[in-house]
Amino acid sequence: MKIVFATGNRGKLREAAEILGPEFELLTPAMLGITQDIEETGTTLKENSIIKAGFLWEHTSLMCFADDTGLEVDALGGAPGVYTARYAGEGCNFNDNMEKLLRELDAAGAQSPQERKARFKSVVTLIVNGNQYFFEGTMEGSIAHSKAGCGGFGYDPVFIADDYPNLTVAELEEETKNAISHRGKALRQMALWLKENL
Ligand code: IMP
Repeated sequence: MKIVFATGNRGKLREAAEILGPEFELLTPAMLGITQDIEETGTTLKENSIIKAGFLWEHTSLMCFADDTGLEVDALGGAPGVYTARYAGEGCNFNDNMEKLLRELDAAGAQSPQERKARFKSVVTLIVNGNQYFFEGTMEGSIAHSKAGCGGFGYDPVFIADDYPNLTVAELEEETKNAISHRGKALRQMALWLKENL
């Protein structure tokens, strides 16, 4: 089944391909000659995932999906949330974001795993024949005191999932991360829906 994934993030693409399996042929906007950056102007994860999937649908009329992911940290009142990608400012990289997160948690005096509780949430919007369908997934955990591991992407070196409390997500095998991750949970529901409904 051919399906377009609204991402330019190689980490996300690799994970989605592994989660969805060989029944799905994943295309990216770049493969279809679409190179514009899609501005994420929404104020919720759902709005941003609709914006990204809607943009692709308008430009390709092909079955497509987008995910938008946010990291919610309890000690920071749910921040960075919808601003997770640009937490350290526009043009910042993954490392700048993680450094800022560790500084903010220290400033908030959050020491124990309980005080550093956090979760990743993903909202996936799927568009089939112009109709929108939504799937969500969450991974509960806490923020480490320093970075560890080189797998995954984004905030994985500082995120410890409750399911594997002695390692950061960047230290897990990709298959292990996908089995417990926010994106894995949302995309497996989407795959099931597609198999049952198409
Ligand atoms: P977006 O969904 O591409 O807007 O991602 C928002 C932010 O969350 C980006 O900074 C990503 O790097 C980060 N992010 C998304 N998914 C993951 C993940 O699975 N692990 C770690 N960071 C992630």
